[in-house]
Amino acid sequence: MWQASVLTLFPEMFPGPLGLSLAGKALRDGTWSLDAVDIRRFATDRHGTVDDAPFGGGAGLVLKPDVLSAAIATVARPGVPLLLMSPRGRPFDQVRARELVAGPGAVLVCGRYEGIDERVVEAHALEEVSVGDFVLSGGEVAALAVMDACVRLLPGTMGDAASAGEESFEDGLLEYPHYTRPAIWRGPDGIDRPVPEVLLSGHHAKVAAWRAERRREITRLRRADLWARFAGTETGKR
Ligand code: SAH
Repeated sequence: MWQASVLTLFPEMFPGPLGLSLAGKALRDGTWSLDAVDIRRFATDRHGTVDDAPFGGGAGLVLKPDVLSAAIATVARPGVPLLLMSPRGRPFDQVRARELVAGPGAVLVCGRYEGIDERVVEAHALEEVSVGDFVLSGGEVAALAVMDACVRLLPGTMGDAASAGEESFEDGLLEYPHYTRPAIWRGPDGIDRPVPEVLLSGHHAKVAAWRAERRREITRLRRADLWARFAGTETGKR
């Protein structure tokens, strides 16, 4: 069983969306487990204080190192990656998701307010993980995104959809466009839109070639960064 532990000031946010649909079924089936640990339980004063003003001044509050460290100590296990949700972290990606599901699980630390005391990052060697170049109000939504990306890769969770390896990012390209019935659909603008002819041809090789070409085109037009890397590996192969 793949074991996730989330450290948060808002344990009631979990499993949240991961309790539904395929992730929720996998959770009930015991394919993975989720332990939401309330950081406040580790406060040492009678007010349950978990944060304090930043040294050096400035706005906001910082999660106290003593409290957070005590919480981390209860869930940290050898061989289990300790992740800190952080906008300064390395951008999370499909490669890291695959690595994480190959292991026993993950501990995900969620910051709040201005963030956490930097010394905790150092003392526990936390791996800072970002879900994008924007600022969330807390790490919980980021942790849900990271766990969702991992859980759908667990054997048995998604059938073969996630293992097919044709999805966006799996080989460095974005996905091709999808179509389903009806074959001709009239949109709100009154225009009849047929699906691309080749998809109705029943010719598997042609369909595959069309899809491969769409993937290249979409990646080249939308994501110059991915395209450059993909083109680089292709040249490298020769
Ligand atoms: N003062 C910080 C932002 C704090 S946001 C700064 O300017 O960098 C509060 C918490 O939300 C963070 O501690 C982190 O856990 C989480 N968070 C915010 N944006 C995030 C992102 N893009 N990826 C992952 N976690 C994020």
